[in-house]
Amino acid sequence: MSKKNILVIYTGGTIGMTEQFEGGPLIPFDFQNIIDHLPELKRITNSIDIAPFPHPYDSSDIQANVWGEIAKLIQQHYQEYDGFVVLHGTDTMAYTASALSFMLQDLDKPVIFTGSQLPIGKIRTDGKENLITAIEIACASNGEKAMVQEVAICFGAHLLRGNRTTKFSAEGFEAFQSPNFPPLAEIGVHIQYREELLLRPKNTFTCFTEFHRNVAVIKIHPNLNRSFFEAIVDHALVDGIILETYGSGTIPQQSWLLEGIKKWISQEKIIINISQCPQGIIDQALYKNAQSLQEIGVLSGRDMTTEAAIAKLMFVMGHIHDYPSRIQQIESAICGEMNAHSGPIIQ
Ligand code: ASP
Repeated sequence: MSKKNILVIYTGGTIGMTEQFEGGPLIPFDFQNIIDHLPELKRITNSIDIAPFPHPYDSSDIQANVWGEIAKLIQQHYQEYDGFVVLHGTDTMAYTASALSFMLQDLDKPVIFTGSQLPIGKIRTDGKENLITAIEIACASNGEKAMVQEVAICFGAHLLRGNRTTKFSAEGFEAFQSPNFPPLAEIGVHIQYREELLLRPKNTFTCFTEFHRNVAVIKIHPNLNRSFFEAIVDHALVDGIILETYGSGTIPQQSWLLEGIKKWISQEKIIINISQCPQGIIDQALYKNAQSLQEIGVLSGRDMTTEAAIAKLMFVMGHIHDYPSRIQQIESAICGEMNAHSGPIIQ
C-alpha cells in the first residue's frame, strides 16, 4: 500500500496546547514541529504538511467566515493531498464539521476532524491517540480509492459522520455522540469500518462557501414568552428559524404561537422543526400538537441534530434563492445529514 500525503489544518482548541513547564500555564504548541514530538507518524504517512491558522481559535469564537477559510484551504490543495485532518476545538466541532459537509460536496477524499479533551502537551492527553488515529484514517484506502470520502469526526473509540454528531461530554474522552446514525468505524485494536454506511461521491468535487447568516434558533419550553417569540418572528432580519420542539415534534397550541408561525411562513420564510430529544425522528403526523405545524407549512427536520439543521439552513439559504427550490433542498438529505425515509433508523 502506497504511503499518503496528508495536510493537517490546525485551527486551535485544547489539542494545540502544552505546559510551558511542568504544572505551568498552557501555551500554544508549535504544530510545525509535530513530527519531532510524534515520530511514529512517519511510519503511517509519506508526508504530513501542517497549515496552522496564524491565531489559533478557541472554537467558541469560530463563525461562518472560518468555515469558509477551512473549506477554501481544502479546495486549494485538493489535488496535492490524499487526505485532510482538521484540528479543532471540541466545543463547536460538530457545527464546523456539519457546515463543511455541506460545503465540500462529492468529496472523494477524507476530511477528518479531531481534537482532544486534554492538551497534547499533558501527560495523560487523549490528543496524541486522536491525532494519530485521525491521520491513519485519512491514509486508509479501499483499493485505489480512499476508504473515507466524506467529512467525519474521529474521537476516542469512534469515527462518526460529521453532520450526525453532537458534543455530549465536557469531561469524558468519548466527547461526541451520533445519536441517530451508527459510527462509520469502531476504533479499537483494529479500525473496523462499516463500509456499507460510508458516503460515495456522485459527481465531481465542488466547494460552496456562501452562507446566509440571518437564522435563529427557538427552543420551545413550557413558559415561552409571547413577547420574546414575537420579537424574533417580527424581526425583519430573521429569514430562517430552527424550532426545537418536544419529542416527535409537538408544541403548545397557543393561538399566538401558531398564528405567528403561520404569518411568518406566508412571507416565504423557512422554519424547520427538530426535536429536543437527541434520539428519534420528527413525525408531524403523529400528534395533533404536531399536525398543526404540518398544516401551516413547517418543514420537518426529521432526525437532524441542531448543529446540522443550522448549518443546512444557512447553506441552503446562502446559495439557493428561489423559495420552492429552498424547500425542496431542506426536505432532501443532501449529504447523509438526516434519514431520508420514514422507516426505522439503521443502527
Ligand atoms: N474550549 C475549547 C475549544 O473548543 C475546548 C476544546 O478544545 O476541547 O476550543
